[in-house]
Amino acid sequence: MGVLKKRKEAEKASGNPRGAGLKNMTASVLAERDLLISILETLSQSRHMDEYLKRLAEQIKKYSGCCCVGIRLLGEDGNIPYIAYTGFSREFYEIENPLCVGSDECMCANVIMGNTRLGLPSYTKGGSFLSNGTTKLLASVSEEVKSQTRNVCNRYGYESVALVPMKHGDRILGLIHLADESENKIPPETVRFLERVGVYIGEALHTFMAEEALQESEKQYRDLYEEAPDAYLSCGVDGIIKRANLRATELLGYSREGLVGRPVSDLYADTPDGKAAAEGVFKRYLAGEEVRDQELEVKRADGSSVWVSLSVRPMRDKEGRVVASRSIMVDITEHRKLDQLKDDFIGLVSHELRSPMTVITGAINTALTEAERLSPEETRQLLKDAAAESESLSNLLANLLELSRVQAQRLVLYSEAIDVKRVIQDAVDKIKRQYSTHTFVINLPRRLPPLQADPLRLERILYNLLENAVKYSPTGGEVRVSAKPQGEHLVIGVSDQGIGISPADQEKLFAPFQRLEKRPSGVRGVGLGLMVCRRLVEAHGGHIWVESEPGHGSTFFFAMPLSQGSPR
Ligand code: ADP
Repeated sequence: MGVLKKRKEAEKASGNPRGAGLKNMTASVLAERDLLISILETLSQSRHMDEYLKRLAEQIKKYSGCCCVGIRLLGEDGNIPYIAYTGFSREFYEIENPLCVGSDECMCANVIMGNTRLGLPSYTKGGSFLSNGTTKLLASVSEEVKSQTRNVCNRYGYESVALVPMKHGDRILGLIHLADESENKIPPETVRFLERVGVYIGEALHTFMAEEALQESEKQYRDLYEEAPDAYLSCGVDGIIKRANLRATELLGYSREGLVGRPVSDLYADTPDGKAAAEGVFKRYLAGEEVRDQELEVKRADGSSVWVSLSVRPMRDKEGRVVASRSIMVDITEHRKLDQLKDDFIGLVSHELRSPMTVITGAINTALTEAERLSPEETRQLLKDAAAESESLSNLLANLLELSRVQAQRLVLYSEAIDVKRVIQDAVDKIKRQYSTHTFVINLPRRLPPLQADPLRLERILYNLLENAVKYSPTGGEVRVSAKPQGEHLVIGVSDQGIGISPADQEKLFAPFQRLEKRPSGVRGVGLGLMVCRRLVEAHGGHIWVESEPGHGSTFFFAMPLSQGSPR
């Protein structure tokens, strides 16, 4: 509403339109009109509600001549604190301020809740409470009403009191509290005028509240945008980045200033395929097409790249023209890496399954078809080869099976009190049958406490570690197994005299599908054994680690809890 229009309305509200003969106006009518006009002007000048109400309280104080004016709003929690006040003593303010609608029997609470009873002398038609014209505060109020109030105003010597609601429609948003130490300070006409003013103020409050709510929701939206876990980017049809949230700057490695204003083509990957894919997305957006979950390689500020799942929505103006894009990028680099690892793994496993099968079928077929030509020694060798390959095949399958149980969270341990010496001996015997290239030493104290564990799983852990010790150490090397109680654990170690592992590689070892760069060529494996060891040890409530120095062999240790009932 323009100030001029408001001014006209103010003239109407005061009952004195301009041109009706200013000279005839009484001083009080003039004062009323001035108040209304200045209230409306204050409104158009104020940026915040608090500021507006503060000025309002001063203006009403000036207009009414009362020494105290307070403006109270009904809060969401049912409290009606003073938002602005002037003149009240500190003590009075502190008692009155925490007034609560639910429990306080105060006139303020009655007015703000609309509990007015028009028949009573203390209320005007508009619903305000006033001190009546001629007598002391509350003296003219019926005893019934008086007993309903806390009578704090009276106690603090405020003889004249008026409470005027500020309304929006039927809703009371708050009230104006006028008080003065002298009697008869607030005549009924003044209260009625303030009631009319209260409607204007209520309207203004409503607008302020709506604006504040809008600002709050805009702020919440901005916060949501800014703090979203995914990267948001907006790009104009000119290909320039217009907006970016915090995550986008982090993901792409730019500062906000470095990203906003930059051509989006700077983010295209350097590879021809990557570039073509990104250009394709941009063209589709320009054509008004929505792009969903497009996997794309994106170049970061430092030249490195990340993979993102990109969704782009074209934004249009009123005429339907595409004016900007709104894009979400979800970082899928890790996902892609894992996918790649899985693909490699499947390739490797297929190969690892095929090689022994070829040896087994070849050896058995030769033994069968060439039986007459072959010497018994040659036939035995063929069958021995087939048996060794079957062993490695069944070992690979066993590890795969354990992995799939772990992935599906279906790993169940069958624990019992086991003789560790025997399980170690069984595992070593098994590996000896397969590898005659190494010597095996078992180094155990005379007595070992019994261990509560799944014997087959313990054998699997040992077998995997023993096989690695053989695979990654030269022919003729010694592989040593030791075990000793340490605190609440039994620590078992498998040592070799092999190539060793660098500290950086040691950190990667137990992750899925890891095969290190530095390993002897021709050594077969799929990067599964150590991960299975780790999962099985942890399922027992234990832990596994390696101590190694490149070129000086490695020892893989695992600690199993001696006490029962701790497996996870
Ligand atoms: P793999 O089937 O490749 O042997 P593992 O999970 O058992 O898979 O081992 C992962 C990688 O850790 C191996 O590829 C190898 O590079 C390294 N590694 C494991 N054990 C040893 C060891 N005793 N000495 C040196 N490197 C080892």
